[in-house]
Amino acid sequence: MRHFEKVSLGLFPTPMYRLPNISRELGTNIWIKRDDLCGVALGGNKVRKLEYLLYDAKKQGYDLVMTTGQAQSNHAMLTAACVRKLGLDCILLLKKRGITARKGNQVLNHLMGIEVRYMDTDSYDDIYQEMDRIGKELGRKVYKIPCGGSNALGTLGYIDCMKEIAAAGVHFDHLVCACGSGGTAAGCTLGAKLHLPETKVMCSMVDDDSFDRIVPQLMNEAAELLNISVEIPFPDLMAMWGPGYSIPSAEGNEAIKMMMELEGIVLDTCYTGKAFAGLVRRAREGFYKPEDNVLFVHTGGAGGLFAQDWEAER
Ligand SMILES: *Cc1c(COP(=O)(O)O)cnc(C)c1O
Repeated sequence: MRHFEKVSLGLFPTPMYRLPNISRELGTNIWIKRDDLCGVALGGNKVRKLEYLLYDAKKQGYDLVMTTGQAQSNHAMLTAACVRKLGLDCILLLKKRGITARKGNQVLNHLMGIEVRYMDTDSYDDIYQEMDRIGKELGRKVYKIPCGGSNALGTLGYIDCMKEIAAAGVHFDHLVCACGSGGTAAGCTLGAKLHLPETKVMCSMVDDDSFDRIVPQLMNEAAELLNISVEIPFPDLMAMWGPGYSIPSAEGNEAIKMMMELEGIVLDTCYTGKAFAGLVRRAREGFYKPEDNVLFVHTGGAGGLFAQDWEAER
């Protein structure tokens, strides 16, 4: 296996423990991996990916990093925070989609003094081209990080997370994570195959992209990067996007309330609420045995929760 260096940005290993009240409620053993507590801004899964991506940027001598996402992108906010920690420059070129007001993650971008530009497009190709154009205009080389940090290098972050979980020595029958751009799902699925072979991974899709193609492709590319020959597992994908990407769903909001009421843990409307709702749905359907250990990977996202208007909620 080829080794890749990374830069230390977060506090790892993150805490992992059993949730007693949720376990009682759902009739099985629910555990949580707190990647929301990884120590940068409001935490979240992008930090593990950025440790690889920003090491690569620095090694190659880039001093301007650009990335993209929707207006409330956790990934964009965390990229800005991590880039600043390393003393490099960052411009966010975001899709003019979602809540562009100075709320939620936009408050954090503002507090960091990050330059945020918007493009009124649905095409990421347009956005990557515009990044090149901005780089030329500024006369600087731009290190472009794709949406969600989901490329082969970023995928290594969640392969590491599976290794970290294995090192804790707890047997897990199931693991559940959110799937938004695919890197976390790919890292967890391939990482479990390598480090947690007895654990079944389920990925709750929060968007209707073709993840049945995207996730295996990322796993293939990551395996190639690592120079390992492994049979690429087929991902277990569950549709949890509700009314649409980043639009709150009733099922997701119920899951957010359950986690907050019973355990005092903050989930978000775009990703973790819907991901946890997938776990709850399976538990209610009797999918898990009472003696099973089920691990929920908390991928962060609290910032987005505070961009939402909750007045209409009863
Ligand atoms: C980006 C994100 C995800 C999804 O991870 P991907 O690797 O993009 O699929 C899940 N949860 C939160 C909070 C995120 O910000």
